Amino acid sequence: MPNPDLLSILICPRCKGALSSAGTAEKPLLACHACNLGYPIENDIPIMLGDRARPLKEAAEGQTVNEGEGE
Ligand SMILES: [Zn+2]
Repeated sequence: MPNPDLLSILICPRCKGALSSAGTAEKPLLACHACNLGYPIENDIPIMLGDRARPLKEAAEGQTVNEGEGE
């Protein structure tokens, strides 16, 4: 999970709002509920790029589907 200190300094690049940790241990996300977007965290590094953000709904659905691993 992301470091809480990191969360406190990160803001959403779109709305400049606060982010919260979301996702799973395998696929952690930083979620902006105002934009309804989730930013992926790869190797403990948050990817704060608009074109990498995924809709939170879509990201949540992806977590519940366990088939098709490795893609
Ligand atoms: Zn936002």
